[in-house]
Amino acid sequence: MKTDIVIVGAGPTGLALACQLIRHNVDFVILDKKETTTPFSKAIGVQARTLEIYEQIGLSGKLVEQGWITEKASFVEGGDVRGAVELSKIGEGMSPYPFLLIVEQGKHEKLLYDFIKSNGKDVQWQTELAGLSQTEAGVKANVKKADGETEIIEAKFLVGCDGAKSLVRTALGLTFEGSTFERLFYVADAQVDWRFAHDSLYVCLAQNTITAFFPMVGANHFRIVGTFPEGHAADEGEILYEEIEAQIKKDTELELDIHDVNWFSVYKVHSRRVNKFSNGRCFVAGDAAHIHTPAGAQGMNTGIQDGYNLAWKLAAVLRGKASLSLLETYDEERSANAKRLLQTTDRAFDLGASDEWFVAFFRTKIFPFIANFALQFDAVKKFIFPLVSQIGINYRKSSLSQNNGLFKVKAGDRMPYFEIDGASVYEKLKAPKFHLLTFFDGANKPPEFSADDFTDFHEMPLYPNIAEIFGASKTFSVLLRPDNYIGLISEDVSGEDLRAYLSRF
Ligand SMILES: Cc1cc2nc3c(=O)[nH]c(=O)nc-3n(C[C@H](O)[C@H](O)[C@H](O)COP(=O)(O)OP(=O)(O)OC[C@H]3O[C@@H](n4cnc5c(N)ncnc54)[C@H](O)[C@@H]3O)c2cc1C
Repeated sequence: MKTDIVIVGAGPTGLALACQLIRHNVDFVILDKKETTTPFSKAIGVQARTLEIYEQIGLSGKLVEQGWITEKASFVEGGDVRGAVELSKIGEGMSPYPFLLIVEQGKHEKLLYDFIKSNGKDVQWQTELAGLSQTEAGVKANVKKADGETEIIEAKFLVGCDGAKSLVRTALGLTFEGSTFERLFYVADAQVDWRFAHDSLYVCLAQNTITAFFPMVGANHFRIVGTFPEGHAADEGEILYEEIEAQIKKDTELELDIHDVNWFSVYKVHSRRVNKFSNGRCFVAGDAAHIHTPAGAQGMNTGIQDGYNLAWKLAAVLRGKASLSLLETYDEERSANAKRLLQTTDRAFDLGASDEWFVAFFRTKIFPFIANFALQFDAVKKFIFPLVSQIGINYRKSSLSQNNGLFKVKAGDRMPYFEIDGASVYEKLKAPKFHLLTFFDGANKPPEFSADDFTDFHEMPLYPNIAEIFGASKTFSVLLRPDNYIGLISEDVSGEDLRAYLSRF
């Protein structure tokens, strides 16, 4: 069998990458050793950036419909709510999705899978990658089917989205260094009867543990996440559900009846990343490339963005519009992001569960009381929301980012969200192409460019809100990459900068 790209693994990373390749009209084969999409709820937090990406293929509304928008977070200490913060509009003005959405990974994967099928493609289920080899011209994937038959798939590129124990990563000789947390984590999806309403995320803060209850669709339905204290004797496979429930009751000091537990799991958390996201014509993405603590609901969302970064680059190379060297920027951009992510999630986890006396004192006695006050300030919201929602991820240091002129928004930033003539600017940016935007101050008419199948051209008035966001006072232009990151921002609107920029790759 021959194709352009083999995707190994149909978890959220592989499925989301397949959706992007469909968008770019690239041929691929996606395979997974499982029978179908996961039935489990696993990752439930969907970040704004993921929804912005899905908006381009018409999936964001459908995912929001199936989920639950977290309205507020309440902090519980010693069995009582000590403080609460409003969350439903925490990112207002920064994204069309200014909230954290809660949807089970099972439903999420199903939505992506349905999109793939509705576009005439399918996943080859019960098909396992057994080995791979590559030359300068292509890749051969050795696969084994459920009936024991083996097959070789020849492709131009291969992407390993095969999870934390990735065979692709091992076959490519990539390392996966980092550490393993000593503490055991648990999760349980269940009905919880207690005196609290089902309208908030509850975070129970204790001396050396943290327990969170995320409201999910369905009356009193919650995802409970927590940790056993350090030194808990048992191994992950040995823990019974009863022990989890006892730990929840002990840590939260709450009267609660937990019943109808439809899924629970105990697991060890690692903080690891690959030394490189690619080797030759093969790439790794998602958990195959980075794993970390669940703090901040980042893992699945990061995998989806790995694929989003890689898809347009593969499409440009396959179409003969860019040289192979463009693909090197995948590792350059996503490695740097994974490194930052691990540092942030490790720090957030320490703040949430460390038993050092000062951290524990701050967490239980100070934080619940000041959190809401702090979030009244725009500056705090503008720090927290971009960090957690992943809209703040930037590639400013990438070799693909070029600034010609001084602006508040820099090359490498995601295209900022704003409304123009009553609609989101993102409405204009859905086509899987480069977008050249010229913001015209009304004085010096910039030249017009005709759109082609590689670049769209948009001329927009330099309205005061746009001038304020970009820190610009006269006509300027922005070249967006197909993933809506700014490649070039320039005072020059003649097209010269643009041609020089594009000719680099
Ligand atoms: C309890 C829990 C809660 C979480 N909460 C969140 C959250 O709220 N937000 C968030 O962003 N992340 C969260 N995560 C992390 C998230 O679940 C993972 O980051 C995500 O599943 C990674 O997706 P993936 O597609 O990269 O890997 P996986 O989901 O592991 O998928 C890999 C796929 O590859 C297949 N595969 C493996 N080897 C082969 C092979 N040799 N041949 C063929 N197929 C193969 C597997 O069958 C699997 O389907 C959570 C994780 C857990 C466990």
